[in-house]
Amino acid sequence: MVAKILVVEDETQFERLILQRFRRKIRAGTFAFFFAANGREALAILEKEPGIKIVLSDINMPEMNGIELITAIHEKYPLIRTVIVSAYGDMENIRSAMNQGAFDFITKPINFTDLETTINKTLEEVEVLEQAKRSEELAIRNEQLEELDRLKSELFTNIAHEFRTPLTVILGMAEQIKLAPEKWVSTGVDMIHRNGSNLLYLVNEMLDLRKLEAGKIELKMIHGDVIAYIKYIAQSFQALTEQEDILLHFLSSEDELQMDYDPERLLSILSNLLSNAFKYTPAGGHIYLQVDRVLQAIHAAESAERPVDSLKIVVRDTGIGMAESDLPHIFDRYYQADIKEETLETLGGAKTNRTGIGLALTRELTRFMGGEIAVESKVGKGSTFTLLLPILKEQQLGEVQASTKELVKQIASLSVATDAIELFSDGADAKPQLLIVEDNPDILQYISGLLAEDYQLQVAKDGEEGITKALAQIPDIIISDVMMPGKDGFELCETLKLDERTSHIPIILLTAKADAESRLEGLKRGADAYLSKPFQQEELFIRLNQLLALRQKLQAHFAEQIQSTATGNGNQTDNPLLSDMEDSFLARFHQALEANIEEEDFGITEMCNELAMSRAQLHRKIKALTGLSTSHYMRAIRLQKAKLLLESTDLNISEVAYRVGFRDPKYFSRTYSETFGFAPTDTPK
Ligand code: ADP
Repeated sequence: MVAKILVVEDETQFERLILQRFRRKIRAGTFAFFFAANGREALAILEKEPGIKIVLSDINMPEMNGIELITAIHEKYPLIRTVIVSAYGDMENIRSAMNQGAFDFITKPINFTDLETTINKTLEEVEVLEQAKRSEELAIRNEQLEELDRLKSELFTNIAHEFRTPLTVILGMAEQIKLAPEKWVSTGVDMIHRNGSNLLYLVNEMLDLRKLEAGKIELKMIHGDVIAYIKYIAQSFQALTEQEDILLHFLSSEDELQMDYDPERLLSILSNLLSNAFKYTPAGGHIYLQVDRVLQAIHAAESAERPVDSLKIVVRDTGIGMAESDLPHIFDRYYQADIKEETLETLGGAKTNRTGIGLALTRELTRFMGGEIAVESKVGKGSTFTLLLPILKEQQLGEVQASTKELVKQIASLSVATDAIELFSDGADAKPQLLIVEDNPDILQYISGLLAEDYQLQVAKDGEEGITKALAQIPDIIISDVMMPGKDGFELCETLKLDERTSHIPIILLTAKADAESRLEGLKRGADAYLSKPFQQEELFIRLNQLLALRQKLQAHFAEQIQSTATGNGNQTDNPLLSDMEDSFLARFHQALEANIEEEDFGITEMCNELAMSRAQLHRKIKALTGLSTSHYMRAIRLQKAKLLLESTDLNISEVAYRVGFRDPKYFSRTYSETFGFAPTDTPK
């Protein structure tokens, strides 16, 4: 390879001498010389001619002297080496040039043999430098590859996880249907269908993203009223928002807007933004979908800064929001913002399926349509996504196909459906959760073996761990050894029975001591049953069944009470099967709701705050006591109150609905009829 050398010298005969001396090497293509008469010219040549390796420079030159020049060169071109040409004996200048990083110097009058040696030596140095630089670059590249590898395997884990949930439901359901077809076939098939669609949707999104990135996607544009279509999408999502306890509001400044659009792609974009809004907004929140026509520059589009007639779509939520530092990345493929554990809890476990694909696809699609998307967000306040699409009118008039409308409904139900896993494991037939607290591995194994078939088992190896697990999981029942290191079974029992979050959980204590005294001690601390080791299998089964049957009786009692024409005076908790503790817990629940009964927005989140429990803890407890989910139970109380008002006052239906926190009288009437079996108008006075 040719070595490029720049010579900076104001004496012109120098150029001739060099060309003469190195003519063979120049002809052979070993050296190529460039000449500059001063510093400024030298810098211009360096700019224009990449790959120069050595600069040979005089020190005393007009304008910029050699020392200034080499300083400038070292700053801008760290791989170039400089050699100073100086008058013989000009030690001072030579010293300062070397101090500025000059690699070597030669003195005038020039000894050309020495010059050639110097050039060769300098070239070797440059070669070493370049090699170092190359291996440094290689190391960086390796690091990048490793990072990519890590991201890929992370993605793989995420995707695998994302697939596992629906697959578990599908397989579990198939099994149930096989075992008890009559009982499961109708719900089961629905769940299998929904989860299967979910998987298909996810796979399609991934494939779409790949196609988009490879530029292999085509738009199927039609010309029609885009507002009507967006409204249709909003309504499809709206129909499902009630179960999530989140309100979706559709706002539009235009009644109608005829333009070109691709219905399926637009659906893809909007469903991603809306389902994210649902996913990252806790119960009780709001989502706004606002559509306007604006004149605005779209930066991503070719038209660049010129304002164009655009459709502006804003999706805003009052959800958990994102940190400033996440915002530049959320449209990147596979990127997921960090969400704090407590925040996740407010969303409920069902809402945490994440892949980081949706927004990447959304941005790619938007750009593909000539539009742009932007985000603003604040942690704890909510997020706003703003989409701009150019309004074009080039296509034939067209209708949204019926199949697309069907797809809208399907996708809306996928996005908003409560997680099937939760439905499944909470279903009437799901196995009860049992926590075994036992420090002896053999006994643990023995008990687990006996019960694994009929229960979902969790284990803890001492009282401390037992308490932690009980609080985290709120199991349906606990079996605990008494004698354990650290906290013993009595302490566990007492702690859990005194804590409102776990006080309802039946506890069976196991001990080797058969004496009446410790039995009494256990019962005093709140144990529900006592078994002394060695115990008969049958004895354990009977005890467990008794306790669970008691709970079912309690739940049945609640179900009956909700449908009966019972008092409804806010004190439905007067139940002989309940302990005082549970009674007072439910009373507090009722009081909190009663105090806010006109507030439509008083939902699960507010209730959790009132009772100082997490969503999951409250859910498991309410479910255990009443057989209902928290939101159903709250609704049941609201409806009870409504029934009482209808029975005993002359308020009309809308007024009653309003009084008990239903803003939509139609929805009120429907749920009322479903609960009591007759319409509000038919309520006996
Ligand atoms: P996914 O939700 O499947 O992880 P997305 O690409 O749709 O994938 O979103 C990427 C990330 O951006 C999410 O993981 C989440 O952290 C964040 N995010 C997206 N939308 C919202 C929103 N409305 N509110 C808060 N965070 C959001």
